[in-house]
Amino acid sequence: DDATPRPVTVRLATPEATAAFGARLGARLRAGDLLVLAGDLGAGKTTLTRGLAEGLGVRGPVTSPTFVIARVHPTLRGGPPLVHVDAYRIGSLAELDDLDLDASTEEAVTVVEWGRGLVEELAGERLEVDLVRPHGTLPGSGASADEGTSEVPVEAREVTLRGIGGRWAGVLTGLAEPDRSTS
Ligand code: ADP
Ligand code: MG
Repeated sequence: DDATPRPVTVRLATPEATAAFGARLGARLRAGDLLVLAGDLGAGKTTLTRGLAEGLGVRGPVTSPTFVIARVHPTLRGGPPLVHVDAYRIGSLAELDDLDLDASTEEAVTVVEWGRGLVEELAGERLEVDLVRPHGTLPGSGASADEGTSEVPVEAREVTLRGIGGRWAGVLTGLAEPDRSTS
């Protein structure tokens, strides 16, 4: 199925907003889902993944799998485990099969950092997640006023989700509502 829903872009004013958005997305995921995270160093990929883990019900800390390539995080509540992959150093995601992970991608939610250009061989259906620091975010530059806080972000992130395949329209519908911005 080549159905591709409209991309969803959400502004994330703080690290907490990044994690909270990840948690909201994570709560909608299921076994077999594949997410590909892109963004420069410091863009918020690990922060978002921590949120995803929380939304999935992972217990324990989620740290960057840079030196181990991949980590499996079991979940409470019997949900799918989170497989967190750092693909920076591998040439092909087929190498994942050689890692002897405790969970297959069919039974896990798989999140791949630095996977662009690699996952395409592996899966047609995937959620591409791009994190950027938009330029020119300055105090008073028109950031939407969040009720309950007078703080204006001096630095923020923007996340864009592109669902490839029929799986994603339902996942993305309404996901942006709580943080909807005017941009
Ligand atoms: P990456 O894994 O992409 O290298 P991290 O998740 O480690 O990036 O985040 C880098 C830094 O950016 C952290 O200090 C984190 O708290 C901060 N950060 C994450 N999201 C936001 C945000 N929405 N606004 C401001 N800072 C953020
Ligand atoms: Mg990271």
